Amino acid sequence: MPSRFLFNPELTALLNETLASSPAVIYRLYAEPPFALQYLSPNVAEALHIEFSGISSMADWMTMQHPEDRQFNYALFKDFAADTNQHQLTRRYRLRSHADEYVWVEDSTKKIERAGLVVALAGAITNVHQQQLQAQEAAQSRRLLSEAQRIARIGHWVSYPQQNRLEWSANIYEMFGLDQQSFQPTISGFMAMIHEADRDLEQQALKHAEETGEYDVEHRVCCPNGRIIWVHERGEIKRQPDGSEQIIGTVRDITEAKEMQQELLQLARTDALTGVYNHRYFMETLQQELTRYQRHGRVFSVVMYDLDYFKQLNDTYGHSFGDDVLVGCAAAMQQRLRDVDTLARLGGEEFAILLPETDLAAATTVAKQLQDCVHRLQLCPPQQIEPVAVTASFGVVQIAAKDVTRDEILQAVDQLMYRAKRQGRDQMVCDLLD
Ligand code: GH3
Ligand code: MG
Ligand code: MG
Repeated sequence: MPSRFLFNPELTALLNETLASSPAVIYRLYAEPPFALQYLSPNVAEALHIEFSGISSMADWMTMQHPEDRQFNYALFKDFAADTNQHQLTRRYRLRSHADEYVWVEDSTKKIERAGLVVALAGAITNVHQQQLQAQEAAQSRRLLSEAQRIARIGHWVSYPQQNRLEWSANIYEMFGLDQQSFQPTISGFMAMIHEADRDLEQQALKHAEETGEYDVEHRVCCPNGRIIWVHERGEIKRQPDGSEQIIGTVRDITEAKEMQQELLQLARTDALTGVYNHRYFMETLQQELTRYQRHGRVFSVVMYDLDYFKQLNDTYGHSFGDDVLVGCAAAMQQRLRDVDTLARLGGEEFAILLPETDLAAATTVAKQLQDCVHRLQLCPPQQIEPVAVTASFGVVQIAAKDVTRDEILQAVDQLMYRAKRQGRDQMVCDLLD
């Protein structure tokens, strides 16, 4: 029995008896290498499931440790014994059990000093096998969660609004191109990263969250590296017992989906042949502009034009050349117009233009320039040297009555355009709609 190292048999028996029911194995070693064992409580077999006969020094104890832990563990122990500033050492390692399996233990050693001299080392070893496995499992789960979140481009966060405190999972730093070691997130700091155009959205979402407890918003983030990404955030407000609030949420990078959505939206608004807007989008935009005029009196005009004798052009040079003319003409017009103007193909060879903040005089000037654009088109049909002459007839109207409808506007400008046709084509007819 290791307890033979204690000289007082009565005291040893008392100690052994007392420690028999303890979950901790207690030991005492000489303070100098080879750290011979003075005492080892006999509950070692029960508490740690190990065979302890024949253990008389640290060297014996070492042989029972997992080969991967041995070196490292002994180095730690020796350093501790030699370092006069270190009074306690706690470490975990694996010990071989009788079943030839390894058991995780926690070993905590303290120096026993008399008059400033270390006379012995005493410690306690406890079985932490389940705890260690659970900790490893939890660490593994965290790793998996983090990996899955990275793949799904999702991160999680916790915010404490009353303290301007924000905690991010590792992949949020990655998502925003930030360094986890040097960047300290705060609520106000994050708010400043939200795209200016989306701040109102964010405020509304926060207000909604105050009322319902649920936070759900899509917005852009201006990352410090200059990238702008779209994110979808969802969260739930948790009220703490002290009355303060905590919001737990996720953030997902939806940049790709948003870009695809934008592309689809653009496609849905675009005329496939010419690339200008289509009839439906023109009608929506016209309605918005009409509403603005009705509310705020913001003047605007509409131009409609139709290519002259287009059927003849198709019949003479082929449908495909007709297409080229439509494309070339639309491109030339688009180049002439401002970004705020909306050029759309209404159908066939008929187009319309919405000119915001433009009165009849200015709209007439624009239409004249567009007419010149058509004249200047230099499009040669296949196997021809000379470009064909293309002309169009224009109707121009300034809206000057608040009670008109969108259809009435289109009807009016259409009638003006047909007047231009009747009067001989390649000209424009302009009027106020009042
Ligand atoms: P007007 O001067 O009175 O406008 O006579 P027009 O010949 O231009 O008008 P009409 O309405 O008689 O004919 C329009 C032609 O435009 C008939 C149609 O085949 C052609 N067209 C319609 N859409 C397309 C298209 O996408 N591509 C081509 N190449 N032709 C088209
Ligand atoms: Mg025509
Ligand atoms: Mg037509």
